[in-house]
Amino acid sequence: MIENTSITITIDGPSSSGKSTLGEQLAHNIGYHFLDTGCLYRALTVATLQRNIPITDTHAIIKLASDIDIVVQTSAVEDVRQYTVLIDEIDITWELRSSRTDSNVSLISTIPEVRHLLTEQMRSIADGVNIVMIGRDIGTVVAPEAPLKFYLDASIDERARRRHNENMQSGQESDYKEILTNLQTRDDIDTRRDNAPLRKPINAYTIDTTTMKPTKVLIEMLRIFHTVI
Ligand code: C5P
Repeated sequence: MIENTSITITIDGPSSSGKSTLGEQLAHNIGYHFLDTGCLYRALTVATLQRNIPITDTHAIIKLASDIDIVVQTSAVEDVRQYTVLIDEIDITWELRSSRTDSNVSLISTIPEVRHLLTEQMRSIADGVNIVMIGRDIGTVVAPEAPLKFYLDASIDERARRRHNENMQSGQESDYKEILTNLQTRDDIDTRRDNAPLRKPINAYTIDTTTMKPTKVLIEMLRIFHTVI
């Protein structure tokens, strides 16, 4: 049993490895808050694109990151959203997962000053509460002292298939090959960047979700949670 006033549980892994479904379900089951940290990088990407700032203009993107106010709220809207994201009080949640955002978010995430600002914001959201945080560098950089870390993985074909199905279910246009290429590019940028690359944290529990049903993964995560915490 870990004696602590507030606990962070980290879940890292590549896109569509199951982090957001399982992170949210785990948080719900154990009564913790939930934060999908990717939505902060996505929100900044949406703001950059909306203002027609070139993706190569690092200076302007850093300035934008420090000027705008990104707020993540547990969703109050009766729909399929896990949360609502506001930029300067305007709801941009539906733009977070557009293919334009998908194609640009990883490049923006390589900028060290951007990572620094958003990491601080993540830490302040987690401060003083029990929380499940999902992302790429949560167990390694954002919350390295977390008492419980997971790393979820799945084959790239299965991840592309999941994303394709999600798009189709929500009525969006979807091209499997385009999704696969986009995932490969993002994996590549996320694992190769110098600053806080995607890595399996030391002492993380790794679960390969390729052939596992989400309910089975959740049961395993809950079992580990009750053993460790
Ligand atoms: O998890 P999601 O696919 O929404 O993340 C979008 C992108 O944000 C990732 O591909 C990655 O480039 C970036 N990201 C990150 N660090 C995090 C969360 C997301 O670099 N902690």
